[in-house]
Amino acid sequence: MYEHLKAADASVHKIMMSELARQREGAELIPSENLVSVPVLEALGSVFTNKYSEGYPGKRYYAGNEHIDEVELMAIERAKILFGAEHVNVQPLSGSPANMAIYQALMEPGDKLMALKLDHGGHLTHGHPVNFSGKLYTIVHYEVDKKTEQLDYDAIEALAVKEKPKILLAGYTAYARDIDWKRFKEIADKCGAYLMGDISHTAGLVAGKQLPNPVDYCDVVMTTTHKTLRGPRGAIIMCKEPLAKAIDKAVFPGMQGGPHENAIAAKAVAFGEALKDDFKLYAKQCIVNAKAMAAQLEKRGARLVSGGTDTHLILMDVRPFKLNGKKAEAALGKADIYCNKNTIPYDTEKPFVGSGVRLGTPCMTTRGMKEEEMTMLADHIVDALEHADDDDYLAKKRTEVIALCKGFPIYKEIE
Ligand SMILES: *Cc1c(COP(=O)(O)O)cnc(C)c1O
Repeated sequence: MYEHLKAADASVHKIMMSELARQREGAELIPSENLVSVPVLEALGSVFTNKYSEGYPGKRYYAGNEHIDEVELMAIERAKILFGAEHVNVQPLSGSPANMAIYQALMEPGDKLMALKLDHGGHLTHGHPVNFSGKLYTIVHYEVDKKTEQLDYDAIEALAVKEKPKILLAGYTAYARDIDWKRFKEIADKCGAYLMGDISHTAGLVAGKQLPNPVDYCDVVMTTTHKTLRGPRGAIIMCKEPLAKAIDKAVFPGMQGGPHENAIAAKAVAFGEALKDDFKLYAKQCIVNAKAMAAQLEKRGARLVSGGTDTHLILMDVRPFKLNGKKAEAALGKADIYCNKNTIPYDTEKPFVGSGVRLGTPCMTTRGMKEEEMTMLADHIVDALEHADDDDYLAKKRTEVIALCKGFPIYKEIE
């Protein structure tokens, strides 16, 4: 693969190969990342990138879109089957613009959005003041319970009934627990809000039938396609039929111009993969692996926010190791263990520092690792955190991590 690139532009090819080497070598535990298949890479790098196709299948503003229409309809059809959705828009360029389109479809500027606070697990686009969402809309934030660090549905209900938001949003970026969608739907009905699900993180686990499907309860559901779903960078929006027109209009022409049809083709390929039986095994293993890692981390003295995980994600409080998130991330990085610093609920550190790190299993599960390797990785993590100031120790740890990953090779097709 990539022999033409190598011949024509050795400089870019060299950087690309260095990145591939990095991905092969280290333990990638960033929960929002994954490793796509070579067919997905091929679709992404295909001639679909050449085409302008503003509009929707059958109603384009440019000529020559018959094959583009076929591939976009295929992506839509597969997503509908995968999630049981009535209507799917596969054009959003990424999660943030998709959320922007949904807000634009369902709200006027100034209308009220109720979502989880950022430092309790919400996303920037869920109303953070520096983000368009916080600037354009009136934001009401709910929080996790201080003691359990989990969603408190009674408190959410009381706040929703008092505030009467236009959209009630569930689905998070740093929350390790399952979501009671039925309860959220009851709350939304009680206060007259649209219920929106943002399953960017967990979509692969939903598609793999390991977590409840919010599409059954929500008016509209957004997911990125590049996290647990293991597709190209991008997003899709799913909704009930009555909202279909408003959603489509908000994506184009409301938000975007030409869709990235190469990414849409890659979404079709990834959805095809997710419809196969072995994707269920992968989804199941993501959770089994996270639970195994969580158990060993706790055994070694770590404190996990909310006491554990129901998903692919673990939020770990690193203060017991006398560290903050920033220092922990740096120490683990020296051992080739990639995670990201994160605030934890009721954190006293700034977001750029944080008191926790976020860990996730999708990449390592895709590589084929199981519980045994998760236990080893958990040990490596705690060992590294206990020696965060000892560069020699971390360098030695790094060779152990590299040796472990070497047993689970990736991208054998690429030389
Ligand atoms: C990742 C994520 C997004 C944003 O996706 P981008 O593709 O990075 O814009 C939105 N919401 C949630 C909950 C996410 O986890």
